[in-house]
Amino acid sequence: MTVLVIIVGLALWGGAYLISCALHPYIACGRCKGNKQLYSTSFEGAYGDCWRCHGTGRKRRAGAKLIGRGED
Ligand SMILES: [Zn+2]
Repeated sequence: MTVLVIIVGLALWGGAYLISCALHPYIACGRCKGNKQLYSTSFEGAYGDCWRCHGTGRKRRAGAKLIGRGED
């Protein structure tokens, strides 16, 4: 019984997660916080495209890749 509740719970959560990924396939890049640029800590004013998101400021969610939403 407990196992069934867990399975149903996961299925509901998974469904909600996939719908969320379909509507919002991206999440703000964790490195630049969606700012697209990273500033140098050693040389004031120097900055470049964020190396993690390549200057897009966003990251594709795992669920979005799974259902083919969005692009890298
Ligand atoms: Zn970034």
